[in-house]
Amino acid sequence: MDTSREKPPAGDIVARLLELQQGAAPLQLDSQTRRAALAKVAEFTESFIERSAKQAVYQPAPAAADSLAALRITGQPDTIESALDILHEHVSSTGQAIVSDRFFAYIPSGGIYPSALADFIAAVINRYAGVGYAGPGAARLEQSLVNWLVDLTGYPETAEGDLTSGGSMATLSAVVTAREAHGIGSAKVSRSVVYLTPQMHHTFAKALRIAGMGDCVLRQVPMTGELRMNVAELEHAIAADRDAGLTPWLVATSAGSTDVGAVDPLDDIADVARAAGVWFHVDAAYGGAFLLCKDGKTRLAGLEKSDSLVLDPHKGFFLPSGTGAVLVRDGQKMRNAFRARGVYMQDIEDDTERSACDLSPELTRPFRGLRFWLPLKLLGVAPFRAALEEKLLLARYFRDCMRDEEHCELGPGPDLSVVTFRYLPSGHDPDAFNRRLVKEIQDDARVFLTSTTIDGRYTIRMAILGFNTHLESVDTAIAVIREKVALLLSR
Ligand SMILES: *Cc1c(COP(=O)(O)O)cnc(C)c1O
Repeated sequence: MDTSREKPPAGDIVARLLELQQGAAPLQLDSQTRRAALAKVAEFTESFIERSAKQAVYQPAPAAADSLAALRITGQPDTIESALDILHEHVSSTGQAIVSDRFFAYIPSGGIYPSALADFIAAVINRYAGVGYAGPGAARLEQSLVNWLVDLTGYPETAEGDLTSGGSMATLSAVVTAREAHGIGSAKVSRSVVYLTPQMHHTFAKALRIAGMGDCVLRQVPMTGELRMNVAELEHAIAADRDAGLTPWLVATSAGSTDVGAVDPLDDIADVARAAGVWFHVDAAYGGAFLLCKDGKTRLAGLEKSDSLVLDPHKGFFLPSGTGAVLVRDGQKMRNAFRARGVYMQDIEDDTERSACDLSPELTRPFRGLRFWLPLKLLGVAPFRAALEEKLLLARYFRDCMRDEEHCELGPGPDLSVVTFRYLPSGHDPDAFNRRLVKEIQDDARVFLTSTTIDGRYTIRMAILGFNTHLESVDTAIAVIREKVALLLSR
């Protein structure tokens, strides 16, 4: 240490500290400023919610250069009014309105209000949710949600789980757990086989790559006409791979595929996987919430026999984006995959409290459980159950209405709440006609629909999952589709 230099008198330090304290003071808003800002934010969100009930489901954004200029970090302070104006113009009213009742694209996400309140509370109290001894209350609240999901799915008490940022991260955790549980070191990767169908979500293959399993064998199992995995073909493929000296590792299934909502025959796959000693993974990111209603539970039978599964509360439980969940049947396997400690954590005397960091790639994380817990606490389960049953029935209603449409060919009967269809008017190229139809519907923006490709054919999808999507919203969609078909045929 350099002791030769003269120490500044303590008085100088104190003066400078007081100066800096003054400079940093705006970081700590006073009570009056907080209340005023909160009132402005409440006004902003109220007017957003009011508007979005009537507004177009798609609004073009200003030119990127204009937005980037408006959003640029200038380093200078500004008022909350000005900030909210910028948000309104460049963010909250541009692009796809996922929270609209007339949004039927991809898998709609939610946006129930109690979750927003919870996010606000979670950010203010900022309890440390990753480590049990640090934030026991936050950790236990999240544990109670995992317990609830374990119970809902029919998993045993030995199961463990984690709340993630979404389905992609949940899938990654499941894949890493399965890799560790089967002891697949790098030398074994290229001999390990994963079984899946083209209906499996693309984030599964992405998770394999991230987990270092990108070079394993991806065995595409043939599907039935309903785009479900053909179980006899699965059994056959596993046996053939074993005969060829490969190691069948994991069968990846969908409990509600994104494309068409197809549910693989989970119960039969469970038997095959168990007999073969293969890890059985279920992607229920879209479909899992339907376990809440009787019809859904019947359709998802066998899911409870899986080794790991993924749910996405920001889809079927209607939360705003930011919450997925992974469950693993044997919780110890999850701990084996993720538990780690640093020396700086050595002062913990009692490390028996359950910690999310032992079940996750994350350490510090948002207290994301609260946005799931508060809605369930305030509203109970009944409104969720009713809404999910409503979505299943709306899908049937939509399909029944479309059945009578001239030139319309329907996809397989919906397992859940996604309906596919395409128009085949004589004298028109089907792919081109349906592509133009989707474009017309999107440009009109009363409803928002998207497409997919099935067996090489352009296919329109109607995905019904908005918490605020009701009969009237679906009727609007039907009216818009009819109108645009007539328009295209009249040209
Ligand atoms: C949405 C979805 C995913 C991916 O989840 P994210 O929350 O978007 O990361 C995976 N599988 C299915 C079936 C999905 O619908």
